[in-house]
Amino acid sequence: MQVENCGARQDIAFCRYTLCMALRLLAATTSQGKLRDFRIAAHAYSVFIDPLPAADTIPAPEEDGDTFRANATLKAVYYSRFAPGQLVLADDSGLEVDALGGAPGVRSARFAADSGLVDSPDANDNSDVWNNIVLLQRLTTIPAAQRTARYRCVLVAARDGEVLHSAEGTVEGVILEAPRGTGGFGYDPLFFLPALDRTMAELDLETKLSLSHRGRALEALLPMLRA
Ligand code: IMP
Repeated sequence: MQVENCGARQDIAFCRYTLCMALRLLAATTSQGKLRDFRIAAHAYSVFIDPLPAADTIPAPEEDGDTFRANATLKAVYYSRFAPGQLVLADDSGLEVDALGGAPGVRSARFAADSGLVDSPDANDNSDVWNNIVLLQRLTTIPAAQRTARYRCVLVAARDGEVLHSAEGTVEGVILEAPRGTGGFGYDPLFFLPALDRTMAELDLETKLSLSHRGRALEALLPMLRA
């Protein structure tokens, strides 16, 4: 497959070089969406990302860290023990809103549940909708100029329970007063990028990944792993 990725080039030396340089990572995630995001972002670097085998059968560790880094680290260390000798990649990410002192932060997925508005997990998997409602409620009195926010992602690579490298990526934006767009997930319909005059939910996937916190974190991590 890697040889096909050399495209129309019939230059064998080039293909051999690419094969030597190819890295394989196992992503510790059961989210198909995240896996797809990582694969697209990694493709440009000749990095192949596969799911950690049988990840859905492994009991998930409790993500009780106070920071994205702590949670990504505990996941990478934990899951790498299930794939001896392999490079295992784990991430943690979320939204930080300045007017809310950085909330929801590590609680991004459970923002509405924490507020008592819905049960956790939402049986109908409407968490994203509820999370956005809670976010809008909390910001009702906050003027546009103070609705600054960012997505943050921390990636950690580990092997056999040892952290090898970590990297972080952020993307700055502003929280709108009403959702826009149908793409993406999570807080994307409210996360507005002034430079593009679009919300994250209005971007195609490749554009989103080229500037997203996840794409940027991966961009920072891959050179470290190669080195
Ligand atoms: P996770 O722990 O990395 O799966 O992400 C936690 C939560 O952060 C998600 O459930 C979303 O609410 C939010 N989040 C993380 N990344 C994104 C993104 O790219 N777009 C929208 N929401 C995100």
